[in-house]
Amino acid sequence: MAKPRHVSRRRTSRRQFLRGSAGIGAGVAFFGAAAASLGVGAAMFGKRKLAEQPQVVVLPNGAQLPQSTPPANDPVVVSRQRWGALPVDHSARNEYGHYRKGSNPEGWYVYSDDLRRSYQTLIIHHSAFYKAGGLDTLLEIQRLHRDERGWADIGYHFLIDQRGTTYAGRDLSVRGAHTAGYNTGSAGICLMGDFRTRGPTAAQMAAARALIRWLVERLAPTHLAGHQQFNAGTECPGRQLIANLKDLADRAGLQYGIEGFVPVARAEACGCGCCACAATL
Ligand SMILES: [Zn+2]
Repeated sequence: MAKPRHVSRRRTSRRQFLRGSAGIGAGVAFFGAAAASLGVGAAMFGKRKLAEQPQVVVLPNGAQLPQSTPPANDPVVVSRQRWGALPVDHSARNEYGHYRKGSNPEGWYVYSDDLRRSYQTLIIHHSAFYKAGGLDTLLEIQRLHRDERGWADIGYHFLIDQRGTTYAGRDLSVRGAHTAGYNTGSAGICLMGDFRTRGPTAAQMAAARALIRWLVERLAPTHLAGHQQFNAGTECPGRQLIANLKDLADRAGLQYGIEGFVPVARAEACGCGCCACAATL
């Protein structure tokens, strides 16, 4: 089923967007979109009224998409079951057990609040290698994250192969493991390949745009950045992909980079206030 678009017949403020259903504007937007998708709009509002007030799509930064832009559908995501993901391992050595404030800050952390209030940013990665195909690469990433990094599950929330196939990684309700010190509140998206010397495919970028647009609606993040912008010691996601990130952010109405990033959820999760103590937080 298609997720409701953020559609409004009047301009919706950034704050209303970020707070989701807290704003009357967002409530109207949600209902308007849902009603339209169910075909009940005409019955509720009257055909003439809807026709006189064309719908606009409002992005998080307040920008409005052209009216001709077609509504986004859910991206097609290959489920964990379909690609053969291994189950979560709560005995993992470096992401052991469940999170407990103070005593186990690096454990498996499930967001307790609405996800729209739990996420601030989308962080883009590359896998730095590409095997014969997307599935082989995906399985190797899972192995690396579990066996070598000692994490309970694959660290990224989504992965996209070079044919543009998007795979479900770690559940979105759980903190990822992909950007040291900045995982809480950040959704990790990995484009599979090594983009230090060559760029992603057109199909990969199209899939990334669709996924990001859907995540903007679902999570209401404010920022999009590359891994390297948070962790200066890594080349991830590679120069050739970094060159595309501002465009990705602009198209989604997100602020590019980390300037203005406010990691409130990270501080809450850690409990120590500094967040420099745990590599996976
Ligand atoms: Zn990375």
